[in-house]
Amino acid sequence: MFEQTLPRTLDPRRLAEQAVTLEGTLPLSGFLRLREYLVKEAILSRKIKGTLSFSFGVGGVILVNGRIEAQLPLQCQRCLDTMDYDASVDLLLGLVRTKNVQLMTGYEPYQMEDDRLCIQDLIEGELILHLPLVARHSEQDCHLGGSGMELPQNEAEKVKRTKKHPFEALNALKADKTLGED
Ligand SMILES: [Zn+2]
Repeated sequence: MFEQTLPRTLDPRRLAEQAVTLEGTLPLSGFLRLREYLVKEAILSRKIKGTLSFSFGVGGVILVNGRIEAQLPLQCQRCLDTMDYDASVDLLLGLVRTKNVQLMTGYEPYQMEDDRLCIQDLIEGELILHLPLVARHSEQDCHLGGSGMELPQNEAEKVKRTKKHPFEALNALKADKTLGED
């Protein structure tokens, strides 16, 4: 299938005038801020997919409707292996130059520095915002298995020994009782 590369920066006003919808990808390796959160060795040739429609809203505000999709390699905080996180973010943005612009309900303001819109920055910011607080495999996929309580051998031994104590105490109690019954 033909896959277009998205432009890194564009003129959103011109695209809004023509009611353009852009669809394409950007290489994940180019997202330097986002890469800080990812398993570096797993980034390789992965791509971020984006669909962005440009139009005008009330008062001539440029609106961006769209969707970003990416499979991001995160480190599972339980087993420390790589897990693929399917990120998908719906965009409903109004491009503004100052913070105090009233937007239509449901639209978030996105502040632009000048007339050019850096698509890469926009996508990167949205993906970082939507990363999970704690990355974890689902229980059946995690290499630590269902419990998530597996411990190194020594630790496990220690726990086993500690766990024995209540029973020993109980046995001692039983023994006392038997003696008493005599
Ligand atoms: Zn895991």
